Amino acid sequence: MQVLKFGGSSVANAANINKVIEIVKEKIKTDKIIVVVSAFGGITDILLQCSQLAAEGNEAYKKKLHEAELRHLATVKELISITQQSAVLSLVKTLCNEMEDICTGIFLLKELSERTKDRIVSYGEILSSKIIAAKLNTEAITCEWINSAELIVTNANYGSAAVDFSITDKKIADYFAASTSTLFMMPGFIASDINGVTTTLGRGGSDYTAAIVAAALPAKVLEIWTDVSGMMTADPRLVANVKIIPEISYQEAMELSHFGAKVIYPPTIQPVSSKGIPTWIKNTFAPQDNGTVIQKETTNNTNSIRGISSINSIALLSLEGSGMIGIPGFSKRLFEALAVKKINVILITQSSSEHSICVGMDASNADVAKAIIDEAFAYEIETKKVDPITVEKDLAIVALVGDNMKSHPGISGKMFGNLGRNGVNVRAIAQGSSERNISAVICTQDVKKAINVLHEEFFETVYKEINLF
Ligand code: ADP
Ligand code: ASP
Ligand code: MG
Repeated sequence: MQVLKFGGSSVANAANINKVIEIVKEKIKTDKIIVVVSAFGGITDILLQCSQLAAEGNEAYKKKLHEAELRHLATVKELISITQQSAVLSLVKTLCNEMEDICTGIFLLKELSERTKDRIVSYGEILSSKIIAAKLNTEAITCEWINSAELIVTNANYGSAAVDFSITDKKIADYFAASTSTLFMMPGFIASDINGVTTTLGRGGSDYTAAIVAAALPAKVLEIWTDVSGMMTADPRLVANVKIIPEISYQEAMELSHFGAKVIYPPTIQPVSSKGIPTWIKNTFAPQDNGTVIQKETTNNTNSIRGISSINSIALLSLEGSGMIGIPGFSKRLFEALAVKKINVILITQSSSEHSICVGMDASNADVAKAIIDEAFAYEIETKKVDPITVEKDLAIVALVGDNMKSHPGISGKMFGNLGRNGVNVRAIAQGSSERNISAVICTQDVKKAINVLHEEFFETVYKEINLF
């Protein structure tokens, strides 16, 4: 059994879906296949915009929703022969009518909950998976459609729900053990809570759906089909001379994706790494390209750095004060306050003088975080043991990632020397004790320059010597 996931750009239109069908046809010659698909490219955003407009009482949602409906209908007409279209067209219409009903409700009530947003966006994946399954069936390739929301059970944290693996793994294993089909189609991204209410796994979550299914079986291999020929040494939208990474470890892939490499949704790695399932990144538009394999052990790293990534919209919050020195419990209270409000911390640094603790987080959380930390330390601020927390925004994190960094001293010296020579001011630094990641907090406006000079230093110069660039 193999699991293949196709992302939004791979299923953006009829021409692209035909490429997906070709890949699937090749694969089913040799193995049982589960296909997981995203919504058509851009549809999730459009559905979120529709619900937002409706909540604001703006009738423009109707036109947007109608355009989304037309796009799905046009794709069906282009994909499926005229004699076989009608059932699929009416299914698309029924689903779009349901969406319209929900949006009318939002419009009338002028109220939009996270739960309702999940319900609305779920139609994106339902529509794409139903249409592609229908296309396969009209080509006499029997394909069983399964609603992922019936197999993947989560908590009720709408928008980014946490999977209950003990229930989910059993449901998936039981379902596939009982079915005799050889080809399955599943919508990515969607799940449901214990009461059957629709939830989603977070933006980009279709990768995760595929990994959850692959690990529960367990599948022989997971393939993530996208619009680039693998994981690259840096974001190809920021750096011109990027190179495809042929092999990467689970840990490295996890670090790179956590620090911004969008090609894979970070939670995806955990289920596949726990079962040791090799996971490939492949290009739907160039299937002959090798791609990247993510697996436990790697062999061919000629470089101590595997890749460079970055995240924008970071805020740095600093708690400082001489009253913190030598007194245990400050960091516990700081992180407890953040945890209560479910604020995710991306990076932590503490000076050895214990005079300050600095945390990096998504800038959208910074104001709430400041308020709760100031409240948690109100007494110490009042008695001047610590200063009110300071917040800096417009920051970004750049990270160098590589399992081999620990055996190569001098990398951070090279990194910071390089950034300094190029006029990039570093606001904070963090290095995990695993020495697999060195992160620097810099100004957003410096990101492109920083990534490019680091890429040149750590990849282009090295690879030029061995003629890889
Ligand atoms: P999909 O819709 O198939 O899930 P995504 O848009 O989520 O695809 O991810 C693929 C995109 O990730 C690529 O088009 C590329 O621009 C971007 N990307 C960012 N960093 C990297 C990287 N290090 N390697 C490859 N792609 C990257
Ligand atoms: N359609 C969802 C999104 O755009 C999930 C995915 O594509 O992975 O976030
Ligand atoms: Mg993606």
